[in-house]
Amino acid sequence: MELAAHNLTQPVIPGLLGNNDIVRESELIERHEAGSKTVGTPFVTNPRMTCRNVEVYYGEKCAINNVSIDVSHNEVLAMIGPSGCGKSTFLRCLNRMNDTVPSCRVVGEICLDGVNIYHPSVDVVPLRARVGMVFQKPNPFPKSIYDNVAYGPRIHGLTSNKAELDEIVEGSLMKAGLWGEVKDRLREPGTGLSGGQQQRLCIARAIAVSPEVILMDEPCSALDPIATARIEELIAELRTQYSIVIVTHAMQQASRVSQRTAYFHLGDLIEVGPTEKIFTNPKHRLTEDYITGRFG
Ligand code: ADP
Repeated sequence: MELAAHNLTQPVIPGLLGNNDIVRESELIERHEAGSKTVGTPFVTNPRMTCRNVEVYYGEKCAINNVSIDVSHNEVLAMIGPSGCGKSTFLRCLNRMNDTVPSCRVVGEICLDGVNIYHPSVDVVPLRARVGMVFQKPNPFPKSIYDNVAYGPRIHGLTSNKAELDEIVEGSLMKAGLWGEVKDRLREPGTGLSGGQQQRLCIARAIAVSPEVILMDEPCSALDPIATARIEELIAELRTQYSIVIVTHAMQQASRVSQRTAYFHLGDLIEVGPTEKIFTNPKHRLTEDYITGRFG
């Protein structure tokens, strides 16, 4: 699909926590006239991923409508909005997880480090290592803790001997904040861990293949408040090395963990901006209605 000219000329955020007010009213009006409903600052100066004019259809039904946004390095980007607005659909586009849904069609361009991930030459297996995913419900494989983390490095041939594999497993469990709790029981089944530990195991499994981006689809919704707090701390630590895109229905979680927030509504990306601005001074009435509880 051809890129709409307006997307190439829109302002960008100079650095992640730049001044939101650089978007002038006239530019916002231009965007509306060009068909994009998004206000705020969807673009950054040094993007890891760029999404342009993305549309997603399930059969004839349009679930995502002309969405353009960047994902920066070392940021947590939160995606919020009422149920059914397309957050998960959009998240799953970022590593082609929607390929597994036969009726699903993705239009537009999504690039990782400048390469269109939907180009026919792109192999989805290494792509999903580079853009890993953590799901709502922890889903460890029915294998040992060790083998859960070693699985990815093994299938991607990342190590040549046991010592190297041991090192990756230990390093990944450490980064996921789980090593201390499991180091003496690596041969026990991953499914025997608590819910919060299982989710951290799934994060360790994603980290083990050295991703650039980690997608998280409501990663705490099946967890208790203490396990949730632990995952949120972990997300803050992981940001120093990875880009993280998180779908959450909990606005407080978005405000705690993210640097930028994107608000979706009925398949449209309504507003993107520094999280603090979105929650204290949104530009769009629909965003304001949602964050103040008048909608959704
Ligand atoms: P959210 O994550 O914001 O709750 P979803 O991305 O799950 O929203 O859904 C967006 C829209 O796409 C909804 O109308 C939903 O019914 C529809 N949808 C999601 N998955 C499928 C699917 N596999 N087949 C058909 N429609 C789907």
